[in-house]
Amino acid sequence: MDALRSLNIYLRPYKWRFLFGGMLMVISNLLIILPIPYIGRTINIIKEILSQFEKGLIPYALNKDIIQYGSIIITVPIVGGIIRYYMRQLIITTSRMIEFDMKNEIYAHYQKLSPAFYKKNSTGDLINRFTEDVSLVRQYLGPGIMYLVNLFILTCFVILQMLRIDPTLTFYVLLPIPLLFISIYYLSSTINKKSQEVQTHQSLISSFIQDAFSGIHILKSFVVETYFQKNHEEITRIYQKKNLQLVIFSTLLSSIIILLTGTSQLLILYIGGKRYFEGMVKDIGTLAEFFIYINVLIWPFITLGWVVSTIQRAKVSQKRINAFLKENPDIINQSGKCSKIQGKITFKNVSLVYANTGIQALKELSFTIEKGKTLAIIGATGSGKSTIVQLIPRLYDPTEGEIFIDDRPLKELHLYDLRKNIGYVPQESFLFSDSIHNNIALGAMPKTLEKVIDAAKKAEIEEDILSFRNGYETILGERGVTLSGGQKQRISIARALIKNPQILIFDDSLSAIDQQTKQSIRHHLQNDTKDRTTIIITHEISYVKDADIIIVLEKGKIIEQGDHQSLITQKGHYLQWHYEQLEKKNWLDKVFFRGK
Ligand code: ADP
Ligand code: MG
Repeated sequence: MDALRSLNIYLRPYKWRFLFGGMLMVISNLLIILPIPYIGRTINIIKEILSQFEKGLIPYALNKDIIQYGSIIITVPIVGGIIRYYMRQLIITTSRMIEFDMKNEIYAHYQKLSPAFYKKNSTGDLINRFTEDVSLVRQYLGPGIMYLVNLFILTCFVILQMLRIDPTLTFYVLLPIPLLFISIYYLSSTINKKSQEVQTHQSLISSFIQDAFSGIHILKSFVVETYFQKNHEEITRIYQKKNLQLVIFSTLLSSIIILLTGTSQLLILYIGGKRYFEGMVKDIGTLAEFFIYINVLIWPFITLGWVVSTIQRAKVSQKRINAFLKENPDIINQSGKCSKIQGKITFKNVSLVYANTGIQALKELSFTIEKGKTLAIIGATGSGKSTIVQLIPRLYDPTEGEIFIDDRPLKELHLYDLRKNIGYVPQESFLFSDSIHNNIALGAMPKTLEKVIDAAKKAEIEEDILSFRNGYETILGERGVTLSGGQKQRISIARALIKNPQILIFDDSLSAIDQQTKQSIRHHLQNDTKDRTTIIITHEISYVKDADIIIVLEKGKIIEQGDHQSLITQKGHYLQWHYEQLEKKNWLDKVFFRGK
């Protein structure tokens, strides 16, 4: 029950609801038990009436009793049923409320975790813990607990009643019960193991499906549908197998329960009958009463099989949920103070090793960008350019060395203030399945249309947006318009610009934009950014040339740094890069613009 104990905090706010539900449960069970002795008595009276009829008498007095008992037998269960209905309503809706709380807490926690966590775990698994696992836990909290407590209360009432009538017979009838608990004990651990397997596999399937349909274009263009179909069949077959094994054990448990309750019934018939003839049981009505008690217990005991497997599955699920809830965000806000950011950035011997792969992406980097200046980073793919810029909004923290903003250690700045002051255009644009307006306005406060239009103009995307039928309200993504790479990049740029940030970062974010548009964007930015610090990762020679400092990166190390002039005079890698770019440009000019 360890994992399930962590649920207590969710239950606590609803304790009065549960308590009231429990009270209704006690009453409704009492109302099940209450009419049973009257059934016994009625049977005795009917027997009496029949024997009096045989003697030619008409027993009016007894008829009156029958009407009285009959009305109790009919009305009490109706009232009990109504109470039971409200009890279920109360408990099930409370479990839905807890589910709501849990989902919100898990979501809030997921959001706190850093990108490194999301590199380690698949989205399918994350979603599964969020949906399937929470829903299994809810089943335990609602119907699971309800059936269990109900069974307990009812069993207590029934045993008390049976003891009142005939302790010896009660002893015989209850003989199979210990066997029942032993089988539950042994089977439930197997059920637990099997459900763990099922749930892990379910996550695997979710991840597979997510992958397949996110990459549906590739799937189709490489004509690998059959291959994926086969893979899907294979993993779902394993899932089916695991589920069948789980079903075997849970039905085995249900069958054992039915068998043992049936045995109790047989014992009543046999031993009860014997005792009746021996005169130990006073009348046939009492025997019937006994029989009904055991019957009342059968259904709750049958649900016990389901309850046990629900508890086991919930335990596994809660363990999986807890595993992620226990993950601490490795990047935390350590400052309660507001931080104003000017934009001077200093790296001091910064190194970074990616924990999940062990790749050393950066080695002892040191450089400074003064407020309002521009830094250009060049280097081959995989040299660590993107890694550098991700350190500034603290998407990752350096493993060694330290970063300063305005000469203050990065970690001492208020994390959210820091991020609000950075306009980061990532290498791969990501747009939400939402309107263009909302995509651009994402980080803006307040989100006015004027601001959105202004940002769109600066990012040279306004014309494209207006060409769509719904303009700024055009929905993007899965259910909407698919944008070209260049359009996505420009929306990403607009999203960064709208924040009016002190630090602007472009990670190769102009690669899919044509030359002329690039020039216009550059022009807007130059007018716009007098005291804004800009970091740009690019292969564009014109951007690099004008930068205040240029960093040449190779395998995570700075091999050259300085401004254009000084790097040219060093006659090193930069010069060579510059020469190659110029060659390329001249060649392009020659081929395409000859004679113009
Ligand atoms: P660039 O932007 O210059 O192409 P990156 O900074 O993206 O280079 O990558 C530098 C190195 O770090 C590469 O070897 C890459 O495989 C590795 N790397 C990048 N991101 C991650 C990550 N999230 N987890 C693990 N390794 C990473
Ligand atoms: Mg990169």
